[in-house]
Amino acid sequence: MRMSARPQNEHQARLLRLLRDEGPRSRAELGDVVHLSRSKLAVELDRLTELGLVASGGLAASRGGRRSGIVRLDPGLRFAAFDIGATSVDVAVTDGELEILGHVSEPCDVRQGAPAVLDRALDLLGKLRDEGLFTRVHGTGIGVPGPVSFRDGMPVVPPIMPGWDRFPVRDAVGQELGCPVQVDNDVNLMALGELTSGLARSVDDLLLVKIGTGIGCGIVVDGAIYRGVSGSAGDIGHIRVDDDGPLCACGNHGCLEAYFGGAALARDALAAARSGRSPQLAALLDAGGDLSARDVATAAAAGDAEAVRIVREGGRHVGQVLAGLVSFFNPGLVIIAGGVAGLGHTLLAEIRSVVYRRSLPLATGNLPIVLSELAGAAGVTGGARMISDSVFSV
Ligand SMILES: [Zn+2]
Repeated sequence: MRMSARPQNEHQARLLRLLRDEGPRSRAELGDVVHLSRSKLAVELDRLTELGLVASGGLAASRGGRRSGIVRLDPGLRFAAFDIGATSVDVAVTDGELEILGHVSEPCDVRQGAPAVLDRALDLLGKLRDEGLFTRVHGTGIGVPGPVSFRDGMPVVPPIMPGWDRFPVRDAVGQELGCPVQVDNDVNLMALGELTSGLARSVDDLLLVKIGTGIGCGIVVDGAIYRGVSGSAGDIGHIRVDDDGPLCACGNHGCLEAYFGGAALARDALAAARSGRSPQLAALLDAGGDLSARDVATAAAAGDAEAVRIVREGGRHVGQVLAGLVSFFNPGLVIIAGGVAGLGHTLLAEIRSVVYRRSLPLATGNLPIVLSELAGAAGVTGGARMISDSVFSV
């Protein structure tokens, strides 16, 4: 299998990203944007065509004079994305413009370890290949629910992923698929997904707070993910809310995640059910034998006062941490995402009220705090975007 083609200079890279983000364009329009003469542009486009990265898309309407040819990304370009969560795996294939062509999702316990979970993801990708969506992929972006060394393409001491520490995810999948692969934290990919096709398309500086089994924050600065020196930027789940708070999976006390991660919600729900404070949760416990964050959402939606109180309390803690982040970072948008975001508007209202009360008006005056609208597609869209950024660069 031929290794993936890449642009050979900045002009070519710029043309590819432009065609990805803006769709097919006439040669005349492309020349205007990249400031190349007609003959230089033709040389670059010929080279990209030889590489199989762009193709002709017919003739444009006349701008007066000869009709300019339309150029588009090669229709055979494909990117794959794996969004590995704590309890699920999503696999998708996109075209060069990052349109999702196929997307499959399955329950999957990340604690089975790297080889088993990655095999499952590769199986799902094989299913999409069997459906005729691609013959080869030009790159694959992978998100995992824990801290990642982006440079090394592997998770590093991830708290909720036993068996994954320093597993060479990038190299293992790259070998299997014969294409470039990049690995990042799932939260960063969700933020990239929002930039690509979500609420953040026109925003350059934003925070995406994911509340699921864990709690993390994707930081977008000037349209790009900010990862920090070693890749752990945005790991807000372990910011301390209270010295005397509950014990966290990380070994410390009083972390945000120990108050409002998936495990914390399940713990509070069980306590509420057993103490008799919540008739709804008690009924759900009787029926299912166990309780999860989803049950809290169900009970809260049914008007159970104790479940609503749990959600409000969690929102207050998230808001407390977020107010500090907003003062520090001054984002243009805050997006709340992840399974617990399914708790919906009760949660959002509480977070908003704390952030607006505690941050200075200059920081919150024009600050929308919203729920993600991409649901399950954010992570895979972000994965495709991440690897396309890499493939479409010199
Ligand atoms: Zn912690």
